[in-house]
Amino acid sequence: MTLSLCILYYISVAILLAGEVWLFLALEGPGLGIIDVAFVCVRIMARKFFVGGKSKCNGTIEEVEKIVSILNDGKIESPDAVEVVVSPPSVFLPLAKSLLRSDFQVAAQNCWVKKGDAYTGEISAERIVNLGIPWAILGHSERRVLLNESNEFVGGKVAYALSKGLKVIVCVGETLEQRESGATLEVVTAQTKAIAERISDWTNVVLAYEPVWAIGTGKVATPAQAQEVHSELRKWLQINVSVEVAESTRIIYGGSVNGANSKELAAQPDVDGFHVGVASSKPEFVDIINAATIKSCA
Ligand code: PEP
Repeated sequence: MTLSLCILYYISVAILLAGEVWLFLALEGPGLGIIDVAFVCVRIMARKFFVGGKSKCNGTIEEVEKIVSILNDGKIESPDAVEVVVSPPSVFLPLAKSLLRSDFQVAAQNCWVKKGDAYTGEISAERIVNLGIPWAILGHSERRVLLNESNEFVGGKVAYALSKGLKVIVCVGETLEQRESGATLEVVTAQTKAIAERISDWTNVVLAYEPVWAIGTGKVATPAQAQEVHSELRKWLQINVSVEVAESTRIIYGGSVNGANSKELAAQPDVDGFHVGVASSKPEFVDIINAATIKSCA
């Protein structure tokens, strides 16, 4: 990466650190030692870039094999700096897991809200765990909007999946109408609150900010729009959950991310990675994964 991008990154991180440490001091009050502040700094730096890709309800066996083989052959520039999770439709989970390189992981695209039993057609946390699949995607807008999954229902799903040992990518995001009426932060914080009320441990949660108007439309959020919402979500976590959770939780962006726009988005201090739809089934997914180098300055 270029020297100027590297310098820009370090300036952004310095500004972020100053803001985070100030907030930490303000919230936690006097009596803090240098160790506490150092802890905060280290946690901020420790958010590993995360790239999730999912093919929604698309693809065939041959197409899964093809994208897996592209990923297996892909040159990952900073392998230690990025976590990659791919998510085919549930019927292809075992196939993808069996073929995929061992440094990438697999996610289910949904998971039932409680113990699997007489819920015909559902996919339960127990079955996902039994397949050896470590992740589940929950609260995607297509499920919230098309299948009427409420904030509370999604929060319950997150809590249940975590309780069974799954890691979770949970999506939040506003519709175009909500953005245009100025309700973006109200919507995403209400969605996040419904999760926060039901879980106490955020270690295995990745929060995906996915504006509905940007999903599958080719209309990507600007880096400033993404940064603004990510930063507000992090502040919300600081105030309503804890400073540590705010510092360590990855907040990733989803919505028309591609190989061409990923680097500029990744340069934003609060963008910790991506959740990718259409482009995750194309060779450019490797370029999106390699946007992680902007964080590592490798
Ligand atoms: C998605 O489906 O969550 C998504 C972000 O899709 P796309 O990247 O195609 O906009």
